[in-house]
Amino acid sequence: MKFATKVIHAGIEPDPSTGAIMTPIFQTSTYVQAAPGDHKGYEYARTQNPTRTALETNLAALENGTDAICFSSGLAAQDAVIKLLNPGDEVLSVNDLYGGSYRQMVRVWGPWGLKSRYIDMSDPAVVAGSITAETKMLWIETPTNPMLNIVDIEALCAVARSKDVLTVVDNTFASPYLQNPLDLGADIVLHSATKYIGGHSDVVHGCLITKNAELAQRLRFLQNASGAVPGPQDCFLVLRGIKTLHLRVQRACENAEKIAHFLKGHPAVSKVYWPGFENHPGHAIAKKQMRLFGAMVSFDLVDNSPEAATKVLSGTHLFALAESLGGVESLIGHPASMTHASIPREERLKVGLTDSLVRLSVGVEDADDLIEDLKMALS
Ligand SMILES: *Cc1c(COP(=O)(O)O)cnc(C)c1O
Repeated sequence: MKFATKVIHAGIEPDPSTGAIMTPIFQTSTYVQAAPGDHKGYEYARTQNPTRTALETNLAALENGTDAICFSSGLAAQDAVIKLLNPGDEVLSVNDLYGGSYRQMVRVWGPWGLKSRYIDMSDPAVVAGSITAETKMLWIETPTNPMLNIVDIEALCAVARSKDVLTVVDNTFASPYLQNPLDLGADIVLHSATKYIGGHSDVVHGCLITKNAELAQRLRFLQNASGAVPGPQDCFLVLRGIKTLHLRVQRACENAEKIAHFLKGHPAVSKVYWPGFENHPGHAIAKKQMRLFGAMVSFDLVDNSPEAATKVLSGTHLFALAESLGGVESLIGHPASMTHASIPREERLKVGLTDSLVRLSVGVEDADDLIEDLKMALS
């Protein structure tokens, strides 16, 4: 089955009791048994819920996995992955990891005994040399936020596999429509479905996908035993969002391409970060591992004062000033004061995250209107 068919049909069956074509929201906490142990596969709703099962089956298909395990948020999904490890184990991670992922690893899991190290993963040989006996997991994010750096998933998974290290790819920024890390050798894919998969800025949700039966079983155990499960209404909203995932991401990427080129030619803009440009350092790898170049675009201003950035950020009408990404509506953000405020300024500047850097999550509106909006804000 091809992707556009999977989003609509994978895991989706008409409801057997009524024929309802849409998966019902099974808003129930428990299920009646005919006799002790005689049930229909559903005992208690933390453990199983039919709305969640439909979503998990669908998500597994989208990432070419065998199992998806859903959680109440992307960070709850991460929390389950880290619980595969033991105190003293190390996670080796990209150095421009999503801020919330970094915070959880350092401030929640650090005191418990997790070691975490953050390195530039653009050279797989450097990553190979950085793996020690304590390293048990490679944590990859590509493209990254907000600099849109690209790392080679296939090469890094090969390095990890040769050293018996698990690989986890946070695929949130690409979405399963653009990039499928399990096909490139990853052990676990993580999504914040809050972003492109949900796609309508109306739900917080996370999931893990794998094709390794043992990992699936351990993660399924953690889902139930730790209990950060999503409610059935949230599962329904994610399922509904997925039905247009391919259409939304396709259009958003096309819009982002037009916007990136517009920004590149604008006299007030000094630099545009978008992996589709041939001179982007990760362009060749992005071309190899992604179907399109994504719908996130970051740019810096010639006047690199925070005031200049504030003028642009408050000057748009269609681009809404807000955190998050991946919804149908376009968003504009200021990483230095919003998503990345907890990172020391010197550290930020080292990777190009200046006070005047602006990040766009390009939506599915008309590209001409979006460009007009940016033109006004930049003038
Ligand atoms: C938002 C996000 C997360 C966290 O997901 P939540 O659903 O907000 O918990 C993790 N990784 C990336 C790349 C994200 O953008």
